[in-house]
Amino acid sequence: MHLPRQQCTIAKPCAVDGFGYWSGRDVRVEFRPAAVDAGVTFVRHDLERPARIPAMITHRVETPRRTTLRAAGVTVEMVEHVLAALAGLHIDNCEIWVNAAEMPGCDGSSQPFVAALLAAGVAVQSAPRAALIVQEVTRLGDVDSWIEARPTTADCLSLKFRIDYGATTAIGRQTLTLPINPDSFSRELAPSRTFLLKSEAEWLLAQGLGARTSQKDLLVFDHRGPIDNVLRFRDECVRHKALDLVGDLSLAGCDLIGHFVAHRSGHRLNAELVRVLLSEGEVMHGRRKSA
Ligand SMILES: [Zn+2]
Repeated sequence: MHLPRQQCTIAKPCAVDGFGYWSGRDVRVEFRPAAVDAGVTFVRHDLERPARIPAMITHRVETPRRTTLRAAGVTVEMVEHVLAALAGLHIDNCEIWVNAAEMPGCDGSSQPFVAALLAAGVAVQSAPRAALIVQEVTRLGDVDSWIEARPTTADCLSLKFRIDYGATTAIGRQTLTLPINPDSFSRELAPSRTFLLKSEAEWLLAQGLGARTSQKDLLVFDHRGPIDNVLRFRDECVRHKALDLVGDLSLAGCDLIGHFVAHRSGHRLNAELVRVLLSEGEVMHGRRKSA
């Protein structure tokens, strides 16, 4: 039987400043408390008329290597590390006021957002959090990259993520298995940073992207390891992929109770799985039903 937890918001507003990795634009992200059942909503207040963009899978649009949301023609981009911080801390209701389309890259992790949110304080609210309980194995992808949702005997979300860059590369093969709760997320996933290969970084620069971003702002790997940087975890790359998955799964707008196994999966597949689960599963509100 699933016993839902209580919804949470933040006790007071807090903010994180930085610049977008892709655009190089300065941006301020201000988190504000929100009412029960409000969910997570981005508010673009740099426009003539402020635009509200709910952090729901129905507002996701496909863009390479990052998560973008759009409502009424207005977008917010690179939202996954912000959403992962909120989801990882079980902050369900929050407004995210931003003055540019792209979220700050910061150090490439969710850590700056987690630090600001924890300093503001998590406030428990007076209603239970809705949940979707995975009832059967659901798998998407192909032999090279796939993701699967499985039923679990635990009353929470858990992940197993595997990446494989080849045994002889600096990143190599990494596997991580972890139950997701505010403690495990803050400690094990939040500090892990975005990574890319040197060849990918060079390609992005050639496209005029990321000119303001240095190798100290995220992990750029050559054949020896990260350039001008030191790993925070030996398996930091797979931890970051798990962090991204937590952010992507949060677009369900409810808790997902299941064990998620991912092999070289990315934002597109992760989001597709959320769509399938929501279309085939049943979201339970309150304590009316058991699993
Ligand atoms: Zn990421």
